[in-house]
Amino acid sequence: MIVCVEQSLVEAELVAGGLSCPSCRGVLGPWGYARERVLRCSLGARVLRPRRGRCRGCLGTHVLLPDVALVRRQDEVSVIGAAIEANVAGEGYRRIAARLGVVADTVRGWLRRFGERADQIRAHFTRCAVVLDPELGPVLPAGSDVADALEAIAVAARAWVLRFGPGDPWRITSVLSGGVLLATRASAYSWAS
Ligand SMILES: [Zn+2]
Repeated sequence: MIVCVEQSLVEAELVAGGLSCPSCRGVLGPWGYARERVLRCSLGARVLRPRRGRCRGCLGTHVLLPDVALVRRQDEVSVIGAAIEANVAGEGYRRIAARLGVVADTVRGWLRRFGERADQIRAHFTRCAVVLDPELGPVLPAGSDVADALEAIAVAARAWVLRFGPGDPWRITSVLSGGVLLATRASAYSWAS
């Protein structure tokens, strides 16, 4: 479950019962902390200690992952997003990796996953964009599967900003993907179909 990175805001929402369970929509209450993890960010490594919430309805617990991260990815979502944007613009994975200071195989893994999921990603973010902005016109073809997927993400992020106010596009993307933008299993996108 993806939440705002500002811990005080998350805490306030959690205590006020403002967060709902992703499984049953019940109210989440505070339930300790998840294990610490290191997130590699553009400005250096950052230690995250995500809050954990417990549902008062189904009693399930959920890790409240901040929106700068994606589930099971060690790099900040904006770094991953920058790699995807550069690749769609024509840059190869080795150059991207060198420029961003990330291991080449890691970048290649992100790009491969994004390519494999491009259709599902485009479909999901197009749906998100329409939900956020029912007046939205058609999303125009951008020339390839991955370019179409990236365009759908951009359109959805803009629709979010129009509705909720300014925000970082890749953090919005993390929220809209439920943290599983680059999920390894197709089932992670089952809610998108
Ligand atoms: Zn629940």
